[in-house]
Formats: sequence, structure tokens, C-alpha cells
Amino acid sequence: MNDDLRAHLEFFSELGVDGLRLEPEWRNRTERRLAERAESAEPEPVTAVEAVDTGEPTEFTESTERRPAASVEPGEPAESVRVFASQSDALDALRAEIGPDCQRCKLHTLGRRQVVFGVGNPNADLMFVGEAPGADEDIQGEPFVGRAGQLLTKIIEAIGLQRSDVYIANVIKCRPPGNRNPEPDEVERCEPFLFRQIDMVKPKVVVALGKFAAQSLLKTNDPITRLRGREYRFRSATLIPTFHPAYLLRNPSSKREVWEDMKKVRALLTQRTDESF
Ligand code: URA
Repeated sequence: MNDDLRAHLEFFSELGVDGLRLEPEWRNRTERRLAERAESAEPEPVTAVEAVDTGEPTEFTESTERRPAASVEPGEPAESVRVFASQSDALDALRAEIGPDCQRCKLHTLGRRQVVFGVGNPNADLMFVGEAPGADEDIQGEPFVGRAGQLLTKIIEAIGLQRSDVYIANVIKCRPPGNRNPEPDEVERCEPFLFRQIDMVKPKVVVALGKFAAQSLLKTNDPITRLRGREYRFRSATLIPTFHPAYLLRNPSSKREVWEDMKKVRALLTQRTDESF
């Protein structure tokens, strides 16, 4: 057995995987699914609300229905509506709206180097949401690139996907000093941008990484130990809370629970694909 394969299997075993599927159709499922999606994908215009120049992020009401990237509900205040050719264009416009030197909360005075917007496939079925950029992310401008991020990449690969297949973002987009928890006023100003990212990407499944992301998205103070293990409706997606990869680095025995959660994620993604036939 070569070293790469041994390391891969060791990781699976560390995650608590007790068996592997060897059928060729299972092994090739990711490429097949992506190819099917590419074939059947009709270009869908993406409607987004362009914030009128208030300096405020625009928040959208929650919905259990899937709908265009971001749209205006009857009765919502009239704002200018922009139609984008793709999710990617809509996300680019949102990134530009936030701006490279966002000053909407106090974090811009507290040592953050840059706004860390989000990364990945703008059409992803699966989106991961973390808490806030850490030191590595603040330097590189990309979420989850430090040690916790490397573990997240392994977790993504463990369910047969690549990091570039999914979309990754945080509840807040600037690093809090000393990696302290984001404060309520910071979340209040920044979280609406995350909601708009979610509405643009329209993932089928959102994984909330850790207590902070799960509590913020679900608007609850319940501990992560109570939140995980269940599925929630969140905007147009199913939300799965799980432990944060940084927590797993300190508590490797909890990888087993994360693997259980990821198996559920994989089943949800596959189930939805089957339903679309
Ligand atoms: N932790 C997070 O929650 N987000 C990151 O981007 C990196 C570490």
C-alpha cells in the first residue's frame, strides 16, 4: 500500500469510518453527479436586490421555498432589483457592495487586515458556515485555510467531494482581535451579507460549523451538543449543525460524531439528486 493511500485510510479510520463502499457506481458518483448537473443546467438568471445607498446590508425574509438568488417579497420595501446572469456575477456584486475596506462595524478599527468574503463553487449544493476568519484567513483572504481549514478540507474529501465543489463562508467577514467571539453588534451588521450569499448560492445543505455558527443561524442559545444530531430548515436549505474543526483538533474523539453528521449530509445530497430525475 502506498503512503498516500495509507494516510487516507488512517484518516477515515480516525473519523470513525468502519467500512468503505467499493461498488464502481458509488466510487464515481461525484463526477457523475457534476456531469449530470452540467448537462441539465439551464442558465438561470439570478435576481438580486441592490441595496439602495443606505450603507446598510439588505436582509431577506426567511422562506421554506427555493427561490431565485435573492428576490423581493410583496410588501417588502421597494428597492432597485438587479438581474445577474449567474450566481457568480451576483456574488461578485455582493463582494463589491461590501467593499475591500468595509467599515460597517468596529472590527475595521481593531486590527483586521482584510474582509474575508467566501470561497468556492457559486452553484454549490453544499455550503459550510464558520464563525469568523482567524489569523491565517485574515492574511490570505480566504476562509478556513489554517489548521482547522485543512481538517475541513479532509472532511469534505471524506464524503467524496473536493473543496472546490462546495462554498465556504463565515458568519462575520473580519477577524475579531485575538480570535475572540464575534460580538452581537458585529454579527448584526455582517450576518445579513451571509444570508444573501446563501440566497445566491442556494445550497441544498448548509453545515453550521460549531456552536457559534449554529447558534447564530438558528437564533438559539442551545449548546451545540443539543443542536447537533438533528436537521433544521434554514431558508431554502437543510441545516446540519456539527462540531467546529478547531474543536476536533482539540477533541479528536468527537470526529466520530462529525462523521455521522457528514454521512447525513451525503445522504441528503444524494437523495435530492435522485429526486430530480
Ligand atoms: N474558523 C472559522 O470559524 N472560520 C474560518 O474561516 C477559520 C477558522
